[in-house]
Amino acid sequence: MHAHAAPEQETAELGRLRAELARVFGIAELRPFQEQAICANLAGRDLLLVLPTGGGKSLCFQGPALVRRGLTLVVSPLIALMKDQVDGLRENGVAAAMLTSAQEPEERRAVHAALENGELRLLYVSPERLAVDGFVEHLVALGLAAIAIDEAHCISHWGHDFRPEYRQLGRLRQRAPGLPLHAYTATADERVRADIVTELGLADPLVIVAPCDRANLVYRVQPRRELSKQLREVLERHRGEAGIVYCISRKEVERVDAELRAAGYRSIAYHAGLSAEVRKRAQEAFSNERVDIVVATVAFGMGIDRTDVRFVVHAALPKGLEQYSQETGRAGRDGLTAECVLFHTGADYFSWKTLLERSHEEARAAGDEPDPSALAHSLERLGEMRDYASRFVCRHKQLVEHFGQTWNAEGGCEACDVCLGELAPAPDSTILAQKILSAVVRCQQRYGAAHVTDVLRGANTDAIRRAGHDRLSTYGLLSANSIAEVRAWIDQLVGQDLLRISGERYPILVVSPTGSEVLKREREVVLYALPVAQPKRARGTRAPSAEASAGSADLALFERLRALRRELARERAVPPYVIFNDRTLEQMAAQKPRSVEAFRAVKGVGDKKAADLGPAFLACIASAD
Ligand code: ADP
Repeated sequence: MHAHAAPEQETAELGRLRAELARVFGIAELRPFQEQAICANLAGRDLLLVLPTGGGKSLCFQGPALVRRGLTLVVSPLIALMKDQVDGLRENGVAAAMLTSAQEPEERRAVHAALENGELRLLYVSPERLAVDGFVEHLVALGLAAIAIDEAHCISHWGHDFRPEYRQLGRLRQRAPGLPLHAYTATADERVRADIVTELGLADPLVIVAPCDRANLVYRVQPRRELSKQLREVLERHRGEAGIVYCISRKEVERVDAELRAAGYRSIAYHAGLSAEVRKRAQEAFSNERVDIVVATVAFGMGIDRTDVRFVVHAALPKGLEQYSQETGRAGRDGLTAECVLFHTGADYFSWKTLLERSHEEARAAGDEPDPSALAHSLERLGEMRDYASRFVCRHKQLVEHFGQTWNAEGGCEACDVCLGELAPAPDSTILAQKILSAVVRCQQRYGAAHVTDVLRGANTDAIRRAGHDRLSTYGLLSANSIAEVRAWIDQLVGQDLLRISGERYPILVVSPTGSEVLKREREVVLYALPVAQPKRARGTRAPSAEASAGSADLALFERLRALRRELARERAVPPYVIFNDRTLEQMAAQKPRSVEAFRAVKGVGDKKAADLGPAFLACIASAD
C-alpha cells in the first residue's frame, strides 16, 4: 500500500537529516529508537512509537520535517505544549507555527499567509482546529506531506487520559488519503496500542515500543505517617530544585501548598477548581522558574515541559500504574537523576474503592447504564497500584513488567528503595503478621487500626479497659515496638490484602481469607521495617547527576548560567528550557568555552543559538575567572 523508499535513498536522506540535526539543534547522535522511527518516517510508512518521556519523541517528527519536501502537521492536545515546542523550534531557526482557537485573528492571518507561501516546515494544531470543515483538505492542496499525532494514547478509552476530541482523528485517513500517519505516546500498554492502530486506521504500521524503564528515576515508597514532616525530608534533599507534589483532593492541595509557602518554599497550587486564568498563571510561574514546587491534583500534567523536574512526590496512592508512570515520568526529562517518592497508607486503597463504586452507582442512578466491566477494570488497576506499593520487589522491575517488558538487570536497579537497601525485612515477619492478625481476631474484628495498635503495644487507654482488652493474650505482644512501626505493619498487611478495612460508620479491621491462611501457618509473609535510614542524597547511581558532574562542572558557574538563562528567557518571553536545557548548561560550566566555535561545539548548541546567544553566555563564562 505504501511505496517504501529504497534503502540507499534512505541512507542519503538520513545523512542529510543527521547534518541538519547537528546544525540546527547541536545534536550529534540519534538514539537507536529514534533512528528506526525516523527511517520509517522518511520512507513514508505509518508508525506508532511508544517512547518514555524524555526519550526524544519530538525529534522523530521534527527531524524528518527539516529535510522532507512539504509541510509536516503535528496534532497536539494542549496549547501550552504546542507553544513551547514552537517557541523552541523558532529559537533554533526552524520555520514552525501553530494554529489554535485562542489566537488573535491577526496572528492567525500571519500563519495562514506563511502557509499559502509554503514557508512553514511544521504546523502545530489542536484536534478541535483540525475538525474545521475543509481545513485538512486545504493543507493537502498546499502540499501536506506527513501527519504526526502526539500524545496518541488520548484516542483510547483504555488509556488514562481519554479525550473525546481525539476520536475524530480517525477521519484523517479519509481526509488526507495516501499521507503517512505517525502516532507518538509515552505510555501505552497493549490494549491502548491496539486501540491507537485501529482508531487511526494505521496501515501496516511500524510499531516500536522502546524499553520503558526510566533508569534515571529513583523510586521510593514509604508509609504515610506524618505527611508534613515526611514531605519536608524530601524537599530538604532538593533545595532550590524543581518538583511536583501530587495530592488526591483540592482541599489537600490548598493545605499542603499553604504549609510549604509558610515554611519558605517557593510553591504554588494547581487544581481543576481554580479558574483557567489562575491555572495558566501557575503553569507559567513554574515554567519560568518563578516557583520551584507545584502542589497539584492530577489536573496538572500534560502542559509541563520543564525538563529539570528533580522530584515528584505522591502524597497518596494514585489510581493505577499508568497514571503513576505518567506523573512520575515528568521528572528528569533531561536525563539527569530525579527522585519519585510515594507516600501511602492501606486506607488509600479503600478510599479510592469507595469513590469508584459510588460514582459507578451514581451513574447508574442517573440512568447512564455504566459498563460493569469498567468498574471491575478500574478496581483491577487500583489493585495493581496497591501491590506495587506494598510489595518488597524492585520498583523498576515491577513497572517494566507491568508494561509487558522483560526486566533483566542483574544485581538490581541501584535506583529504588528496595535495591538501595533502604528497606530491610522485619525479622520473623510471618510471626509478626500472626501476632497482629490474631490481635484483630481477638478484638472481634470490631476495632480500627489505632485501637489494635494500642492493644498490641500494651497501652493503658479507656477503650482498652472498658473492653477488657488488657486481658487478651495478644495484649502487649509488641510492647517493644513504636506506634509508627506497628501502624506501618498493619498498613502492609492491608496492602497485601491480609487485613481488610471495613465498617459502615468508621473503619474497622477484619482478617481476609488469605489472612486466615497466615494464621493457620499456611502462608509466609514478608513485612518490612520502617525505612532504615532517610536517604541523605536523592541520587541513585546509574544516571549522571548534577552532583556527579560537580567535580568537573563548576557549580557556581552553573548557577550563574542558570540565572542568565532566566533573564534571557524573560526578555524573549519563552520558558528558560527553550533557551538551553540543564544538561547543556552543565557542559558549558564544565568545558568553559572561550570562543564562538568552542561554544558551538557544546552539545545542544546549534548554529542559530550559537550566533544569537553565544556572546551573552561567553561573557558570563569569561567573567567567572
Ligand atoms: P519526549 O517528547 O519523548 O518526552 P523530547 O522530545 O522532549 O522528549 O526530548 C527530551 C530532551 O532530549 C530534549 O531536551 C531533546 O532536545 C533531547 N534529545 C532528544 N533526542 C536527543 C538526542 N538524540 N541526543 C541528545 N539529546 C536529545
